[in-house]
Amino acid sequence: MIVRREDGAGGKFMMEFLKRHVISRFGECRLGEISLSDMDDSSDFDGFVFTTDSYVVNPPIFRGGSIGSLAICGTSNDLAVMGAQPYAFSLALIIQEGFEIEKLEKILDDVRFWLSKLNAKLITGDTKVVEANVEIIVNTSGVGIRNEHLAKNLEVVREFRDYPFSWIRDCGLRDGDAIIVSGNIAEHGVAVMIERGFEFDVDVKSDVYPVWLFLKDVLDVGGITAMKDPTRGGLASALNEMSEKSGVGIIIEEERIPIREDVKGFCELLGLDPLSMANEGKVVMGVVSEMADDVLKALHKAGQRDAEIIGYATSEFEEVVMETVVGTRKVVPPPVADPIPRVC
Ligand code: MG
Repeated sequence: MIVRREDGAGGKFMMEFLKRHVISRFGECRLGEISLSDMDDSSDFDGFVFTTDSYVVNPPIFRGGSIGSLAICGTSNDLAVMGAQPYAFSLALIIQEGFEIEKLEKILDDVRFWLSKLNAKLITGDTKVVEANVEIIVNTSGVGIRNEHLAKNLEVVREFRDYPFSWIRDCGLRDGDAIIVSGNIAEHGVAVMIERGFEFDVDVKSDVYPVWLFLKDVLDVGGITAMKDPTRGGLASALNEMSEKSGVGIIIEEERIPIREDVKGFCELLGLDPLSMANEGKVVMGVVSEMADDVLKALHKAGQRDAEIIGYATSEFEEVVMETVVGTRKVVPPPVADPIPRVC
């Protein structure tokens, strides 16, 4: 047997691959509340959260950013969706022999730029130069810390119901929670596609951005019960994971999903499902219904003007279901794999 592309492509196949070959070997790995087998965005120990991510995007510099911006934004986003403040990072570079120094410097400048925006520090790293045809691969680990914004959010959630977790978990959704998306979807995936030579009249750049910069203000309003960043596999993958882990269904309205018309048109033309396309600066969250309007307002105020309440969690069924623009209902299955290789 050999490893297939889909085994690492962020969808249903990857989940199966990980469960069968990786996680099954390590058993119950837990230092705090979250274990390896929970497959949440980060895990915790001694009051910190910890995560790691590797980046293999082709091309490594694209409209809106680079593999360097992805490394800091992507890793910090996996911390931020736990309610943690991104704090300390590692950076490991695997560089192909012959890679241009100017490109490497641009990538490292992006790393520095986003670290300074986050007021976070790069404290350890590693570099290898290889002959393999990889251009550049980056791995970034990150540590996130507890903060007053998370504390406030949990306090507000507990005014409405029991919440047994000390971080925001992707399994925290309950019947009736509103589902909010923080902005227009599919822009990272489409931007990377266009870089690969698709001549279409769509002026879109990657949405790569550290969501902590707006989430901290939204956490101060409070009421968030579950969060994920919809990266590989897009919104469809994030919603299915939240639904399955929380043991509730989700109903969303197609009309309410924020997406630019030209991005939607581009996807339609290529037969791509925008719900499965990668995002790198967005959050999908569950919010106690009483706080949903206030959280939406806080997102708008924090600059996320396209944020929208797209549906709610329900115990009526177990799947993710979408009410289409023509009024029919259809199941949104978890994508088997991201439609684009090397997207992040
Ligand atoms: Mg994530």
